[in-house]
Amino acid sequence: MATQRMTKVKTNKILRILQEKRNKIMKRINSLEEKAKTLKDKDYGNHLADSDSEELGRMNGTRLLRLQKQLRDFEEAIERVRTGEYGICVICEEPISKDRLQIKPEARLCVKCKKATESHLRKRTPYTTQVRA
Ligand SMILES: [Zn+2]
Repeated sequence: MATQRMTKVKTNKILRILQEKRNKIMKRINSLEEKAKTLKDKDYGNHLADSDSEELGRMNGTRLLRLQKQLRDFEEAIERVRTGEYGICVICEEPISKDRLQIKPEARLCVKCKKATESHLRKRTPYTTQVRA
C-alpha cells in the first residue's frame, strides 16, 4: 500500500465533516440540557410525585453522558486532523480503513483493534474480582 499522505483538500473536507457532526452533537446536548432545566422547574411547582418526569430525567441523563462522550471523540478527532495523526489507529498505528472512517469519522481504532478491545471488554465479567496474575 502506498503511503497515505493526506492532501490539504482531503484534510479540510474531513475537518468540515467532523466539525459539522460536533456542532450537531453540541446542539443536541444544549437542547437536552434545556429540557432537563424545564423539567426541574416543573417539578418545583408540582407537588405530585411525577415518576414519569423523573424517568425522563434519568433517560436524558444517560443520553447526555453518551453525547458528551461522542463530543469528546469528535473533538479528539479534530485535534488529530490538526496534528496529522488522523486516520491512524492509536493502538497499532496502522492506517484505519477508509470504509470505516466513512461510517465512523471519529474512529480512533482500526477494525482489528476495535474488535480486540471489545472482546476484551466482553471477557471481563463485571462485579467479580479479577484474579491477579
Ligand atoms: Zn489498530
